[in-house]
Amino acid sequence: MNKIEHIAFAVNSLEASIPLFEKLLGTACYKTETVESEKVSTAFFKTGESKVELLESLGKDGVIAKFIQKNGEGMHHVAFAVENIEEEIARLKADGFAFVNEVPKIGADNKLICFLHPKSTNGILIELCQERPQP
Ligand code: ZN
Repeated sequence: MNKIEHIAFAVNSLEASIPLFEKLLGTACYKTETVESEKVSTAFFKTGESKVELLESLGKDGVIAKFIQKNGEGMHHVAFAVENIEEEIARLKADGFAFVNEVPKIGADNKLICFLHPKSTNGILIELCQERPQP
């Protein structure tokens, strides 16, 4: 795996949290994007080589809403950049890691993504992401 691509935080409200993180990180949010299939609205900030992603649920039954009900707002997942997501999935599967989705899907910020299951990664939700060719 390459660098940490981004760290994602679950928040109740992007409207409230974007100004907070702009102040905290000293940089403007450069992108917001809704991913209907994942029931999330996202906001991105650049922090050097990596990014911070904020996630707000689109509905009360979305995964982020459920996460916040259970854990409160906070750290949600860490994403690692990979060159070839299919190869990484095959490598990790062969090593016994479990996946939430082992068929990559299209995520925010022009990425192919998949999630490892926290039960096989010490409770940490880990995302793999591969840059897609610019549309
Ligand atoms: Zn992510």
